Amino acid sequence: MSRGILQLAEKLRTEADAYRYLEDLRWNGRPICPHCGSVRKHYFLRPANGRNRKTRTGSRSERRVWKCGDCRKQFSVLTGTIFHRTKVPLRVWILVIFDACTAKNGISAREVERKYGVCPRTAWHMMHRLREAMRQEHLPRPDSAVDLLRGTVVADETYFGGKPENRHGHDPHKNRRGVPDDKIQILSLISRETGEVRSRVIPNVRRETLRQAIAEQVEMERTHLMTDQLGSYKAISRHFREHSAVDHSSREYVRGDVTTNPAETYFAQLKRSIDGTHHHVSREHLHRYLAEFDFRYSTCKEPDAERMNRIISRVTGRRLMYSQPVRA
Ligand SMILES: [Zn+2]
Repeated sequence: MSRGILQLAEKLRTEADAYRYLEDLRWNGRPICPHCGSVRKHYFLRPANGRNRKTRTGSRSERRVWKCGDCRKQFSVLTGTIFHRTKVPLRVWILVIFDACTAKNGISAREVERKYGVCPRTAWHMMHRLREAMRQEHLPRPDSAVDLLRGTVVADETYFGGKPENRHGHDPHKNRRGVPDDKIQILSLISRETGEVRSRVIPNVRRETLRQAIAEQVEMERTHLMTDQLGSYKAISRHFREHSAVDHSSREYVRGDVTTNPAETYFAQLKRSIDGTHHHVSREHLHRYLAEFDFRYSTCKEPDAERMNRIISRVTGRRLMYSQPVRA
């Protein structure tokens, strides 16, 4: 275990400690009512015995409960977050988030299961909820210009699950374009200025598909786009302030300032991580894994505590709508 997680575990000796930790992060001393948004005077409801209170199931909980001074409803720091109604101790949640933010390749459900003694189904649900929280706020929000990338942006695509050139020429899964049908295509956009990455699954690399996918994330007329020689990029280059391409077919990877190397580095790490940590990611869940990697990659220069705060500040309203996992 890293020193960071030991220090954190030290801070979170009880469930009440974990609530206080999250209250500090989310509210910074001023509780916000999740029901009506009020930040006026709220009342802390101290348990009768000073420590814990009985729950509906008859067990005792150290949950810290507040009452809104305006709407009079009760809430805790978990109300309306991905943690709402969770049966997993908040302490465990916070430690798992720390792991997910700081471990270079992320953390798999299997590791969560082993390290924290939760059942497989619960571990799986926890990881998916976290990925949902890591998903960038702006994905996808085509109506807003606020969050778009601009400046110098590298665009590149890859195949998830193996490069097509590693396959035999007579592979029956190859289609006319030489792309195996069972491969998933991913487009990544990387800001050269901030290092922020936004990736998504795309159905193909045709001109209109790429144009739409990029337009959702990039303010095109204020962007210098850097790509390889793929014809689709050339076909949409007039939408951008400038377009430069390196010619990979003639082994050109850098020409002056122009390069797609950041994307190569990103893809290499993504594939290593998925192979090494998760072994298999289904097509259905790949967008969540991408969100997780984008998050870690985009914030890799930030201190651990700061990345963790980013995640936790995103937990509001990110509750996934599948049924509540049952704890082992
Ligand atoms: Zn209220």
